[in-house]
Amino acid sequence: MRPPGLMAVHAHPDDEAISTGGVLAAAAERGARTAVVTCTGGERGEIVGEGMDPDEVRPRLAEVRRAELERALDRLGAGPPRLLGYVDSGMMGTADNDDPRSFWRADVDEAVGRLVAEVRAFEPDVLVTYDAYGGYGHPDHIQAHRIALLAAEAAACAPLYPEAGPPWRVAKVYLSTLPKRAILEGARALAARGLPSPFGVPERVEDVPMGVADEEITAAVDVGTWLEAKWAALQEHRSQLGADSFFLNVPADLREAVFGTEWFVRHRSDVATAPFERDLLEGLA
Ligand SMILES: [Zn+2]
Repeated sequence: MRPPGLMAVHAHPDDEAISTGGVLAAAAERGARTAVVTCTGGERGEIVGEGMDPDEVRPRLAEVRRAELERALDRLGAGPPRLLGYVDSGMMGTADNDDPRSFWRADVDEAVGRLVAEVRAFEPDVLVTYDAYGGYGHPDHIQAHRIALLAAEAAACAPLYPEAGPPWRVAKVYLSTLPKRAILEGARALAARGLPSPFGVPERVEDVPMGVADEEITAAVDVGTWLEAKWAALQEHRSQLGADSFFLNVPADLREAVFGTEWFVRHRSDVATAPFERDLLEGLA
């Protein structure tokens, strides 16, 4: 019998390593089929890689990031890059959001059709994307969430996008997220070492500006065993990692506490699952 398939839908090259690197590496090692769809080329990303001249790299950043993505996916055993072909929209409120080629401005019907073609070609049993806030509010991440949920349903509907291949029903859909409490605990652990965290250290858990309440989480996957692969994949995205990168500056002994668990909200499942899961492939043959 064919092994189960896991597909992660991400906004930019590097997101696959940060939020789902562990579950992808773990699934691949267990013999599952894994794939990553990346909606944009990440061509608005900062160029902060050591020894990289931003003026020289900028015109070919899409090409550089594609090569980085290829190597990162290789580290995770997640197959070749599957790029949806949109342009990075930049951070919320910037002029890049107005670029008609940007993912934020994408025609929804067309974008869903492109992803439906990827879903029908790969036939994943599990599809993972971001929560409604796109994890941290980046327009491309919010758009990835919307497109992925629509495509997961449309892929099963034969009359929709007939040119995109025969229908395929994804059995389980998850939203990748973080519990606000874990973000706050991570921020406190870093602050105790005099290290900054991307969102400061809010007083109360409700004031953490991203993530969801603990009780909304329905899956926590311990990826400690695959942290090395996740880390290696992240480090392949050299153009995005400057000396002051948050990720690189988490001390090695805190890495497992900060990055060793990947959290999800189960959006829907056709198969019976435990109320709280430790494995996204649970319930699949
Ligand atoms: Zn991103």
